[in-house]
Amino acid sequence: MHLSDALNRLPRVSLLDGPTPIQRLHRLEKALGPALGGVRLSVKRDDLTALGGGGNKLRKLEFLVGDARAQGADTIIAVGGVQSNFARLAAATAATQGMDCELVLAPLVPRAGDEYERNGNVLLDSLFGARLHVLAPGIDATGFAQDRAEALRRAGRVPYVATLGGSTPVGCLGYAACALEVQEQSRALGETFAGIVLPNGSSGTHAGLAAGLKALGDNPALVRGHSVLAPAEAARQATIDKGNATLDLLGVGARLDASDIDVSGDQRGEGYGIVTDAMVEAVRLVARQEGLLLDPVYSGKAFAGLLADVRSGRYRPGDHVLFLATGGVPGLYAYASAFLNG
Ligand SMILES: *Cc1c(COP(=O)(O)O)cnc(C)c1O
Repeated sequence: MHLSDALNRLPRVSLLDGPTPIQRLHRLEKALGPALGGVRLSVKRDDLTALGGGGNKLRKLEFLVGDARAQGADTIIAVGGVQSNFARLAAATAATQGMDCELVLAPLVPRAGDEYERNGNVLLDSLFGARLHVLAPGIDATGFAQDRAEALRRAGRVPYVATLGGSTPVGCLGYAACALEVQEQSRALGETFAGIVLPNGSSGTHAGLAAGLKALGDNPALVRGHSVLAPAEAARQATIDKGNATLDLLGVGARLDASDIDVSGDQRGEGYGIVTDAMVEAVRLVARQEGLLLDPVYSGKAFAGLLADVRSGRYRPGDHVLFLATGGVPGLYAYASAFLNG
């Protein structure tokens, strides 16, 4: 079965206003000059999805909330870190669907204080009307979410639990659909991308895109994920597993193997949500050259990885590399102090 037919069989709510633009980074190319070695850079603006401040999680939520509605759910319970973009966008989506939303937020990052705990995504979560459960360290977030769902069920409600980052096979469908979008856009542009670069956190974005490319007969190994959460090998295995679970759900009869998934662990630094110098440099560079905002936890680290790869000669002159801007801009406000001194 063709990927688009397989996707069309599955429940989905529409949260995007059509394809996100692909834009060439001309000024950045000029600023990098000879260091770029003739490589061309473009960005796919998944940060420009309008709802709730935008970002990659809306593609997952189209299918997750579609699934929730198909099950008759009236409440979304989403799990994430304190500054979770997924939680923020689940809250915004629930608002548009007339559903309740509860967020289970775990302290995954060693940061505290008002800017981290009350600004950025947390501020927006409450504006969107979500009920927040901010967990103390050591409490299992998924277990808490299941218990909360059980309590709601006993009260006659119909909850739908969306786990960390929304990276279940259903959530991954959003990026399988994005593979189709990228294929159509690259045809229309008359361009073949030599690489697609993205952050790999809970791995669903990478897994979904790789699954979609595989189903289309394209090469998933062109996607290079920069892990920001798990060590590279664990992230790679999770990406393969989630990608194959997504292909199973689609029923398209393709499989990903180890050689299809490329994950680098070079930009993770000391761990999830922990600032690196290369991330700060990448966020500043792209902001100053292009007026484009990356985020401190995901896309800033991935763009740092792209710059390092370009400088080390990974791509050939004339290659056109596509960076997936995944959003997460509210995170900048939660990390203000990382950018203000210097
Ligand atoms: C969640 C997130 C990612 C990573 O996506 P995964 O599917 O979790 O790997 C990247 N960028 C931003 C801004 C995110 O919020």
